[in-house]
This record gives sequence, C-alpha cells and structure tokens, in this order.
Amino acid sequence: HDEEAAAKAAAINADNGAPTIFDKIISKEIPSTIVYEDDKVLAFKDINPEAPVHVLVIPKFRDGLTQLGKAEQRHGEILGQLLYASRIVAEKEGILEGFRVVINNGPSACQSVYHLHLHVLGGRQMHWPPG
Ligand code: AMP
Repeated sequence: HDEEAAAKAAAINADNGAPTIFDKIISKEIPSTIVYEDDKVLAFKDINPEAPVHVLVIPKFRDGLTQLGKAEQRHGEILGQLLYASRIVAEKEGILEGFRVVINNGPSACQSVYHLHLHVLGGRQMHWPPG
C-alpha cells in the first residue's frame, strides 16, 4: 500500500528522541477523549480509529521509551502498568470478552509516533494474522 510505504519512509529516522504530539496530549495542550488516567498512565481514544473501540495507552513519562525495542530492565514496572491499564480500558469500553493489544515497533511495523503506546482494539471481530 502507498500509505504504508509513506508511513515507513517517514518513520525511518523518526526515533530521534524529539518530543511528540503525545506530550501535548499529556499536558492537555491538545484535546483528547480520555478513557483512563492515573499518575503514570494516560489512555485516550485514537483520532483515526481502526475498530469501534480504539484506545491508545501511553506512559506519562516517556523516559527513553520511544519504542518497545528501547525498553530496559528499569522499565519493567511501567510496562506492567501499561498492560494492566489496557485491561482497565477494555473493561470500561465493554470489550473484555474480546479485544486486542498491539504495539507497532519501528518502521517495518509502521510506528508513526515515537512515544511508546499500546493500541487497545475491539468492538468487532478481529482477524488473524494482522496485516
Ligand atoms: P502508531 O502508528 O502505532 O505509531 O500509532 C500512532 C497512533 O496515534 C495512530 O493510530 C494515530 O491515529 C494516533 N494519533 C495521532 N495523533 C493523534 C491525536 N492527536 N489524538 C489521538 N490519536 C492520535
């Protein structure tokens, strides 16, 4: 797909540590529809949903976690909190019976925002394998 090729091209040098749009969502400079929030984690609706439920779960403090591939031992606690927050989101959104959690890591996976985020998807039959 052209769209995927463009995303991949844009992503090649994207993990440069620069602030991302998610910083502005965390600071609420940019509005979002928040589904869940605590002191470490923010979950908000994806602006371009790929399913009836599509929520992004992000750490409020990126701490070097531009992508999962940059994770270190010290990130273990926040990684667990993000996964658990995904479950809270699934329950709040009424999709506990069936949902998918996705992390796109790097250009080949079409990551477009270099601030770690979990996609929580559901509300329809999900297909396997993903594209
Ligand atoms: P990825 O392609 O895995 O890096 O996912 C980035 C996601 O962020 C995409 O699904 C976008 O639709 C979403 N996104 C980008 N900007 C915003 C925004 N301002 N509010 C909500 N979601 C956004």
